[in-house]
Amino acid sequence: MSAETPDRARRDHHATPDAGHGERVGVYVCHCGHNIANTVAVEEVAEWAGQQPGVVVARDYKFMCSSLGQELIEQDIQQLGLNRVVVAACSPHMHEKTFRSACQRAGLNPYLFEMANIREMGSWATNDREAATQKAKAQVKGAVERVVRQQPLEPLYVDINPNTLVVGGGVAGLTAALELANAGYHVYLVERDSSIGGHMAKLDKTFPTLDCAACILTPKMVDVANHPNITLMTWSEVVAVHGYVGNFTVRVRKKARYIKEDLCTGCGTCVEKCPVRIIDQNFEVGLGYRKAIYRNFPQAVPKYPVIDTANCTFFQRGKCRACEIVCPTDAIDFNQKDTIVDLEVGNIILATGYEQFDARRVPQYGYGRLANVFTSMEFERMVNAAGPTAGRVVLRDGVTVPKRVGIIHCVGSRDKNYHEYCSRACCMAALKFAHLVHERVPEAEVFNFYIDIRASGKHYEEFYHRVLSEGAHFIRGRVAEVTDAARGPGEEGQLIIQVEDTLIGKQRRIPVDMVILMAGMEARKDARQVAALFGLGCDYDGWFTERHAKLDPVVTMTEGILVAGACQGPKAIPESVAQGSAAAARVAGMIGQRVMKMEPVRASIDAASCSGCRICNNLCPYHAITFHEDRKVSEVITALCQGCGACVAACPSAAISGAHFTRDQVLAQIEGILWDARQPEVLWLEPQ
Ligand SMILES: Cc1cc2nc3c(=O)[nH]c(=O)nc-3n(C[C@H](O)[C@H](O)[C@H](O)COP(=O)(O)OP(=O)(O)OC[C@H]3O[C@@H](n4cnc5c(N)ncnc54)[C@H](O)[C@@H]3O)c2cc1C
Ligand code: SF4
Ligand code: SF4
Repeated sequence: MSAETPDRARRDHHATPDAGHGERVGVYVCHCGHNIANTVAVEEVAEWAGQQPGVVVARDYKFMCSSLGQELIEQDIQQLGLNRVVVAACSPHMHEKTFRSACQRAGLNPYLFEMANIREMGSWATNDREAATQKAKAQVKGAVERVVRQQPLEPLYVDINPNTLVVGGGVAGLTAALELANAGYHVYLVERDSSIGGHMAKLDKTFPTLDCAACILTPKMVDVANHPNITLMTWSEVVAVHGYVGNFTVRVRKKARYIKEDLCTGCGTCVEKCPVRIIDQNFEVGLGYRKAIYRNFPQAVPKYPVIDTANCTFFQRGKCRACEIVCPTDAIDFNQKDTIVDLEVGNIILATGYEQFDARRVPQYGYGRLANVFTSMEFERMVNAAGPTAGRVVLRDGVTVPKRVGIIHCVGSRDKNYHEYCSRACCMAALKFAHLVHERVPEAEVFNFYIDIRASGKHYEEFYHRVLSEGAHFIRGRVAEVTDAARGPGEEGQLIIQVEDTLIGKQRRIPVDMVILMAGMEARKDARQVAALFGLGCDYDGWFTERHAKLDPVVTMTEGILVAGACQGPKAIPESVAQGSAAAARVAGMIGQRVMKMEPVRASIDAASCSGCRICNNLCPYHAITFHEDRKVSEVITALCQGCGACVAACPSAAISGAHFTRDQVLAQIEGILWDARQPEVLWLEPQ
């Protein structure tokens, strides 16, 4: 039978109506193009399903999720009087919502629908057609047995608090905050550091346009600080999150700055007079100095400094107070304490960014051992006019200008020993550095050591050609080592880059004065802790997991919590900004609805059966269970429950049941799956 037209592409199998429990079930088995049909005999599964008790009609169809596929279900519901629907196709994560909506459009309660995942759990798990087909039948049987026991459910509606929390004040978070604030909604922006700006504030010029980072970022930072709809909380961190979409309560710790913000004018006299000078490991990445009372950079927002108590002479030895003496407005307050602020918000956007791979982890490149090996962020600070060398390109001694500079790409990225992923921004930043070396030291020779050049953004390829035309050398091959062990007179006093040039198939030793390591981006060390705090998932590398990498990249599996920027994966500025705007648009759309429809899949406790053991109380990840001391029973707060089922499984008295996952329904599904217990092996397909 041809699959060209909808009618010809589908096969229908009718069985005795009103068999089994009196329900009228329709079963739809999807080919998913060749995804399922190549391994599962979908026609056979549909024909077999059509003979099961209770099944009124069973069909197979090329693409069930297409509009024609959905119409098929809708027509059957109306014309055949179906009151239960099963679709055997891909994962519920992908299309449960799609088919529930189709049922609803045809007048059937969407919770009288069940999905069997015969793709990810069947056709994609094996090449054994017979086993996959048998398993698909078992899954369909389980779904039918379950669906006939399902009950109609009605969604819950909750009001949405229009305030939004944005966590992280890098370019992604700033963009999200401004978009929402400009749309008229209030935003709390919580930034851990003493100033907003994130990594972009450290950069000099930005590829591919070479516009100055400060020129495009500072106005955004100032707008955020001055916006009437934004409450900016720097030097602050979220310590607890409770609630659910539309109604989160967030506890923020505002760390003491030891500055009275209402009195400080940001004149900087205290910073000037502070006698303590220490290496700045944060903003200047170890290349410059700061005082014990400091601002990260001159354009820092807000303008107030902060006292680093670990290095302040007064906090350590009870003496000094120089800053207090010189401050013209009496703004120094050594007695200030951390404060706790509780915020009520409807949605949360996480934009906590990335950190740089520690180049010391690749010992053969000599970072930390060979003085003139620099990281890319050190070089960013070096070429920055406001940085530690006022923009001069010099060796670690602070005076010698390098004549030959080697830039090593993919340090910690695209490397099975560290991170397999590509950090996306490093190739382009390396090209930017090649350009900047030529700009600052026109007589210098620059060598790029690369695997492939990844220049896939707008105007990136053109920038690559520009750098090529400026005379930068490109050597293709992964660098084996950087050493100062000279093998001949031409190598003495220099750093030697040993590499296999894969384009000419030869080992080469390139002597240079300076090496720049393009250390990749990685998830922050505390990413998993932050994810747990907000109820998110992280992938293998620690990046926050989005709901769908292609179709829903800024939304997470936790309703009301969104992600933007490099906390979701390595990104350059344009994509970080795009995600910040996208997250803001999603939140604005939600606020515009005023009320939020919530899944009615919830747990409930039968007070008569509850023994008061409290096992469930601490188990609930959403803090949705409360204990009534007077009656010695637990109760589920419906609006907080997310229906995860943890308490249902744990309750030793079987006092908790979940709407849509009752014992009766789950056991019936298991029995259905085991319909042909003679062939248990088909349930555990061996991956091939
Ligand atoms: C050497 C180098 C050069 C680069 N050059 C360019 C370039 O020229 N052009 C370009 O397009 N891209 C460039 N990039 C990439 C650019 O840095 C990123 O795209 C951009 O900074 C990502 O912004 P973000 O807001 O997502 O994250 P970040 O800039 O990392 O900002 C995250 C913010 O969140 C804060 N934060 C973190 N955790 C918390 C928490 N728990 N609570 C509160 N706040 C928190 C941080 O303090 C920070 O302020 C470069 C990257 C590197 C490494
Ligand atoms: S009291 Fe601390 S911060 Fe103030 S000037 Fe002295 S060392 Fe610096
Ligand atoms: S099902 Fe139970 S554990 Fe899960 S969210 Fe609801 S109350 Fe909490």
